[in-house]
Amino acid sequence: MNFPATRLRRLRRTEAMRSLVRETHLHPGALIYPLFICPGEGIRKEISSMPGVFNLSIDEAVKEAEACASLGLGGLLLFGLPSEKDEEASGAWADDGIVQQALRTLKKDKALDSLVTIADVCLCEYTSHGHCGVVARDGDHYEIQNDSSVALIAKTAASLAKAGADIVAPSDMMDGRVEAIREALDAGGHEQTPVMSYASKFASAFYGPFREAADSAPQFGDRRSYQMDGANLREAMREIDQDIAEGADMLLMKPAMPYLDVIRAARELYDLPMGAYQVSGEYSMLHAAFQRGWLEPERTMMESLLSIRRAGADFIVTYFAKDAAKVLA
Ligand SMILES: [Zn+2]
Repeated sequence: MNFPATRLRRLRRTEAMRSLVRETHLHPGALIYPLFICPGEGIRKEISSMPGVFNLSIDEAVKEAEACASLGLGGLLLFGLPSEKDEEASGAWADDGIVQQALRTLKKDKALDSLVTIADVCLCEYTSHGHCGVVARDGDHYEIQNDSSVALIAKTAASLAKAGADIVAPSDMMDGRVEAIREALDAGGHEQTPVMSYASKFASAFYGPFREAADSAPQFGDRRSYQMDGANLREAMREIDQDIAEGADMLLMKPAMPYLDVIRAARELYDLPMGAYQVSGEYSMLHAAFQRGWLEPERTMMESLLSIRRAGADFIVTYFAKDAAKVLA
């Protein structure tokens, strides 16, 4: 039936009507808030390019986590800023690594039982050169080694699970890491710990502000030999295939807004729970526009999150998690 019998505006006339026919919903339990843990006490240092986001010492992180729990958020994603870095990222897998210490403290706090603690698994915050893997150098030439990096990444995942991580989330993009992590977890008695794989992580300029937040900019070169080329959708599906075959329990797509088509394609092909990471640059550029009065903060934030849900993400890692939960309350 065509107009005038059909009038689509009939279902848009009131907020009650719009609410009834709404297809996509946001809820705080599907939002995950990233935390950047640094050494020290009483430290709460704002990241200049990410208003409202802080490097937090463990005591301050506990306060932040309690605020997240009372807002009903689904979980936390933990990153670490170690006091020292070296070539083999020993801070990533040390028993007393910064994130391991944070996990032990957070897990003792009963007020945080409603939050799923997810530990990012990578080496770049812990290597002196800032790459996500072990670097082999030969004069001016360098190569990020795959297999020796995977061994350290698996060791890191097992160490984080031992410290109390509910989920481990490898973000390094080395080949074969999900299988190696699964084996290391099982060998350590953590056969119940799920692996959330950043299956198709693109080499994106939108990660820029994160490198300040996590102090993880590569000292030389870039990450294009391991992270994906932003032009490749079919290759992204091959990456996901591989990770599922290796035992991934969940997927995390990254970045989100510039790659909504990739999220949609993955949603149609795969049945695993899938999240998307609205990355630092997505957050920073919106904030830059808010500061200038160019965009209305609340509506823009909610629309950006809704677009990611509509594309097919079950949950969203976002620096807006607390602000969005307040709007949804
Ligand atoms: Zn990394």
